[in-house]
Amino acid sequence: MSQFLFVSDLDNTFVGDDLALARLQELLERHRQEYGTKIVYATGRSPFLYHKLKVKKSLLVPDAAVTSVGTEIYLGDNLDTPDPEWVAILSEGWNRDAIVAAGKEFPELMPQAGSEQRPLKVSYSVAEKEYLPLVTKLESRLASENLEVNFVYSGGKDLDILPRNGNKGLAMQFLAKRWGISPSTTVACGDSGNDITLFAVGEERGIIVGNARSELLQWHRENPSPNLYLAKARCAGGILEGLKYFGFV
Ligand SMILES: [Mg+2]
Repeated sequence: MSQFLFVSDLDNTFVGDDLALARLQELLERHRQEYGTKIVYATGRSPFLYHKLKVKKSLLVPDAAVTSVGTEIYLGDNLDTPDPEWVAILSEGWNRDAIVAAGKEFPELMPQAGSEQRPLKVSYSVAEKEYLPLVTKLESRLASENLEVNFVYSGGKDLDILPRNGNKGLAMQFLAKRWGISPSTTVACGDSGNDITLFAVGEERGIIVGNARSELLQWHRENPSPNLYLAKARCAGGILEGLKYFGFV
């Protein structure tokens, strides 16, 4: 056994099966103490909603929390100041006001709650059937102002507009590089569309939990890879299964 970088989405991945979560947390904490394994959460939640979940489910203090769909990184238990280096990388070419102004032209876009609107993320709700035609129009509208962004659609309703340099996968690679951990000793876990970048950016190992949503399963069918493991068990149970499959534990 040796050190690895563990990166996991929270809702319906790390969290969702309390019994399996307790086993997984015990195993990860032991691994961290014995081998210096790093634990990272990568969530779509804002720091505010992440903190609520962390308290409710007594989650381990992570080495880092990647919140707001990869656009903010907080080290340890500090949720006051996002990592300034990551903020600088994402701020390049990002014009939030212009995106918000363009978004107002599309009545199909319902802004998400104020707590989920972040300095480096603009978030809406969009019905699944309206998503594809809308995103084509919105993309060309933003391109007309030279605004290059990433669209992330998740759970059949959440549309996040992110800086072109930012998503969960890039945040994972940023931390791995900082800590000197290679892709082959990095493993990411997820269940939905906003986790695809965790599985798509490089050679990291990936665990798709058994309860994964259709958008992620479809992506996996189109992009099969020996680095990806589709678990049978749901949530933390699926993560435990995948960690054993790849020989991390
Ligand atoms: Mg999730």
